[in-house]
Amino acid sequence: MISLTEARTFVLSHCQPNPSEDIPLTEALGCVTAVAIFADAPVPPFANSAMDGFAVRAADTVDAPVRLKVIGELPAGTAPTMEVGEGEAVRIMTGAPVPPGADAIVMIEKVELESDGDVVRITAPVEKGVHVRPAGQDLSPGQLVFPALTELGPGHLGVLASLGMTDLPAYPRPRVGVLSTGDELVDGPGVLEPGQIRDSNRHTLLALVRQLGLEAVDLGLVADDEKSISKAVERGVGECDLLVTSGGVSMGDLDHVKTVLDRLGGQSMRWMQIAIKPAHPLAFGVVAGKPVFGLPGNPVSAMVSFELFVFPAIRQIMGHEFPARAAVPAIADEPLPRARDGKVHYFRVQATHMSDGRFHVKPTGGQASNLLRTMALANALAVVPDGPGIAAGEPVDVLLLDYR
Ligand code: AMP
Ligand code: MG
Repeated sequence: MISLTEARTFVLSHCQPNPSEDIPLTEALGCVTAVAIFADAPVPPFANSAMDGFAVRAADTVDAPVRLKVIGELPAGTAPTMEVGEGEAVRIMTGAPVPPGADAIVMIEKVELESDGDVVRITAPVEKGVHVRPAGQDLSPGQLVFPALTELGPGHLGVLASLGMTDLPAYPRPRVGVLSTGDELVDGPGVLEPGQIRDSNRHTLLALVRQLGLEAVDLGLVADDEKSISKAVERGVGECDLLVTSGGVSMGDLDHVKTVLDRLGGQSMRWMQIAIKPAHPLAFGVVAGKPVFGLPGNPVSAMVSFELFVFPAIRQIMGHEFPARAAVPAIADEPLPRARDGKVHYFRVQATHMSDGRFHVKPTGGQASNLLRTMALANALAVVPDGPGIAAGEPVDVLLLDYR
């Protein structure tokens, strides 16, 4: 048996970031920047009003209340044609350029209009610069906007758009192929013959891939024979950047995935017995330059294995520096019992953030690796180290899978 760390280190050593590409902004959400981005222009591009109100000369308001002559109006999107002279003001909307001569904005709520709006009465003095957003306040030319290896969220994309960028060098998303193996597997609603079960792993794994914002390629169901598995794996690595198979990596006579990976993956292939439960066995190898994961067939094992190995591999390929999910501290509100067996156990739990500022967890039900429903009900995995388990009220680390 090897540790999770050793197994993951081995896998990640074979999963290097894809070469960077110019990725359109419209497709860059969740991608990681390959270079540092610098501003080539000021944002905002001109000094503009932060309020609806009047652009004035601050010096004119020192002896407020004062009356100023309204000489024009500036909606957002128009260029000023006037200059604000002594005793004058311009009606201005949020985002409109501050006209020459003016150096402060008085909010509409703080003025009184007279003579059908030709005169504005300013009731209190304003300081120079009030409610004026200077050019370059957000970004100035030459400024570092985001360093290399920044994950792009919605806000980042908005900033890049505000600089007029339409694409940027980033690490592309891998296409991920998913394949189920097993003579017992069928798909769809038909009547099950004796011994048959329905394939659930392909649906779960395809969805896990899609949840990461990646293209998932459904490579279908394959029988437990070496030839069919070989063919499917070869087709998969031809079409995809990374391949995930399930089933056929245990100790059974018909567990051919490991045999096939051994032959196609050569030196890079390793069949691992990892000191974790579920997801104990894992076959991994590089075929035609593409990482191929042989996940165990039990539905919960396949999902936990995806979380612990495929997820960090995908993130590393996408350029993330710290690809694995970090565990966070929590309190077990119910016991998480287990026996000593040399393995770390991952318990399916519901995590809730409580008013004491901490996460509290409860198991979602039975923990056998075939019980997929209790996995579906879980939003986190509690990491229970080797030993007698965790008593109610004790601390435990958790991996938050989709905390909501
Ligand atoms: P294996 O890893 O092939 O030995 O399979 C372990 C267990 O998982 C067996 O009970 C299989 O029937 C089941 N299993 C394998 N693949 C799938 C799948 N795609 N969907 C649901 N159950 C599966
Ligand atoms: Mg099988």
